[in-house]
Amino acid sequence: MSAMLADPAALLRSVFGFEGFRGVQAQVVERVLAGKATLAIMPTGAGKSLCYQLPAVALPGCCVVISPLIALMHDQLRSARALGIRAASLTSVDSDWRETQDRLRAGELDLLYVAPERASGTGFRTLLESARISLFAIDEAHCVSEWGHDFRPDYRLLRPLLDAFPDVPRLALTATADRHTRDDILAQLGIPPEGLIISGFDRPNIRYAVQPRDGLQRQLQDVLAANSGPGIIYAPTRAATEQLAQGLARGGRTVLPYHAGLSSEVRAANQSAFLASEDMVMVATVAFGMGIDKPDVRFVVHAGLPKSIESYYQESGRAGRDGEPAIALLLWGAEDFVRARQRIAEVEPARQSGERARIASLGALVETAGCRRAVLLRHFGETPPPQCGNCDNCLEPPACMDVTETAQKLLSAVHRTGQSFGLGHLEAVLTGKSNERIVQRGHDALSVFGIVGREEAPLIKPVARALQVLDALTANDHGGLAFGPAARDYLRGEEKVSLVLQPAKARGRKRASGGQDVNDPIFEALRACRRDLAKEAGVPPYVIFHDSTLHEMARIRPK
Ligand code: ADP
Ligand code: MG
Repeated sequence: MSAMLADPAALLRSVFGFEGFRGVQAQVVERVLAGKATLAIMPTGAGKSLCYQLPAVALPGCCVVISPLIALMHDQLRSARALGIRAASLTSVDSDWRETQDRLRAGELDLLYVAPERASGTGFRTLLESARISLFAIDEAHCVSEWGHDFRPDYRLLRPLLDAFPDVPRLALTATADRHTRDDILAQLGIPPEGLIISGFDRPNIRYAVQPRDGLQRQLQDVLAANSGPGIIYAPTRAATEQLAQGLARGGRTVLPYHAGLSSEVRAANQSAFLASEDMVMVATVAFGMGIDKPDVRFVVHAGLPKSIESYYQESGRAGRDGEPAIALLLWGAEDFVRARQRIAEVEPARQSGERARIASLGALVETAGCRRAVLLRHFGETPPPQCGNCDNCLEPPACMDVTETAQKLLSAVHRTGQSFGLGHLEAVLTGKSNERIVQRGHDALSVFGIVGREEAPLIKPVARALQVLDALTANDHGGLAFGPAARDYLRGEEKVSLVLQPAKARGRKRASGGQDVNDPIFEALRACRRDLAKEAGVPPYVIFHDSTLHEMARIRPK
């Protein structure tokens, strides 16, 4: 099969059966065939494998593929062999090592898959020296970076191997890399900046939506009821996958769990049931999905905050690989952010700023009143149009409310009371309440307080959460609030804080109409909303604010 530098387009057709290259594939393949070091960043499903498989067939010698998971390698192996490509792997579960090594030396292999820990060993280098190597392909290359979301220290040890073969080109591939990770991959793997090829990240057929968690089981039932076709629900824990799968299965659809704690037989059975099915739902941890190529997944729901924008993009990207309309829904709660922030303290200091940036980016995605796709694409360095027309916020723009003044009042109260009191105390002080503690501390005497009126008072809590998300306030273990790094910007009013107004859906009320300006005057709009709600639902009036910067729903009930 090792045709000497056969025409790539001809090989594409004869070996792979494809009519043409997709996206940047042609560009990447051309660079690789020219022997140039390359980092290809292409979204999941864009066809990264082809970028090394085709050169592997076209070039004389064997292409060595470094891949992080045995399951992934064996999937690839199967599909490569099905195309008639001479492929093998050297992993702990392979029993044909001797034969594979012999074939490699004899020039009878196009592709050899190995894990990074094996590839970095001296034994492997010696083996390669006895063979002809055409290309090093480093798949899932974000694993090389501490900035990445799946850091694998063994990827760092690959460099000496690559450098030991200066004439062999290297091709790193990943779906997910923000600018930091990208730079890091280039540096770690010795690829010049001009070797970077990025394909467009937009997945226009995916409709993105983000909602606060508000009765998860019911929300998921609604998704299942509204969407036929195969779906994936990502749950944060193993226990949650089982519990949700059980609950949702009562609706009559096949819903199965998948997580690393299940026996390999159960996992394999559930996975193949899913691959074969036309309407099954898999409730899984993120252990599910890597390397799974099911084109007709119609929806991916995250029942909790993903680890990063990269993981979110990759996981939600498993929807709609066939190009047909699909849905990506993210359901989050304030506690997700609290937990994520707590975990920062647990990682080594050198990685903490990366973690913090990751959480902030997720905050930007869930909090935005603007286009979700724009947030995602900007994260990957693209300059998207301000509106995509196919995300929740573009389809139904939320009404916004400027609460900068309330934020200033709260920050000023935090400052004047010595940055140590909890929200309950601050609320009492701000609304001019008097209790023993307030009197004792002399906080009733501070003239700045008592300035938050009855209508504004319900905003204090959501504003406090907003400020925490924005790094303007930090809470200690006892709930005491102190200034965070950004406090002064908000105190001075240089940075604005706004809330997204979201009338209660559960009451069957339609959302406030698009783009309507409720800032002027703020509280008149608030009162109007309450009246509408009360009239329509015949219940005590209340409004739910989903503030854009906070990460929770606040129920605001007039007394
Ligand atoms: P990635 O690794 O980027 O997620 P894969 O390499 O697994 O993507 O490819 C995803 C799917 O796209 C596979 O089913 C593959 O056969 C298909 N594919 C790749 N290149 C092409 C192409 N040029 N034309 C049509 N389909 C392609
Ligand atoms: Mg791949």
